[in-house]
Amino acid sequence: MIKLHFLYKAVADLLYPKACELCNKVISHPTIPICYSCVASIPKSNFSSIEFNLLKDKLYDIANLKYCIAIYKYQKENKAQRLIHLLKYQSKKRIGLYFAGEIAQIIENKQLKFDYIIALPMHQSKEKIRGFNQTKIIANSLSKRIGIPVIDKIEKWEDTESQTKKSTYQRWANQEKKFKLKHKSNIAGKHILIVDDVITTGATMHACLKLFEKMDTTISVACIAYS
Ligand SMILES: [Zn+2]
Repeated sequence: MIKLHFLYKAVADLLYPKACELCNKVISHPTIPICYSCVASIPKSNFSSIEFNLLKDKLYDIANLKYCIAIYKYQKENKAQRLIHLLKYQSKKRIGLYFAGEIAQIIENKQLKFDYIIALPMHQSKEKIRGFNQTKIIANSLSKRIGIPVIDKIEKWEDTESQTKKSTYQRWANQEKKFKLKHKSNIAGKHILIVDDVITTGATMHACLKLFEKMDTTISVACIAYS
């Protein structure tokens, strides 16, 4: 029966070959959504350390921040941005699974240990409109890969104020008002990995880290791309 399944799959791949999400070339390894040549040409973050790097500097090293992982560099129109947009705005969820695999590989190679994963939340109404939260897709898939449970601890509030006329400082301060810890119990002494898709200014992630600033926890951060 299993052999039959592989046969069906091989025939299906032959009849309906999968195309690379970035360049549209037919791919010979449909287990991942992009071709090897595109994989090789996405600009990587190339951090030599996950304990001391540009992302950690950007987040100001608060809340007992231990590791900062970023897979790619995020720039306007680059392949990392295009992939993230395909996931977010065209619901290409298998790209999210691919991203989770990339983060899992680093965690496994470096034998990192965490107690929980938290997906950076979207506001509920925004999630309803989009139909999903791309960060949850990445976090849930990562959870399955590395066997660490996802917990739902952070809540995001509706942002009613316009950001356009605010100074950088006001924007950062405003971000802090948007997040709230749901319940503080049972995370004391735990190492939590917070997952996000993209970190640009760092203001959103910094606001989340502030929630854990006075808590007896260790926090690490993993994102797909940073700029
Ligand atoms: Zn390609």
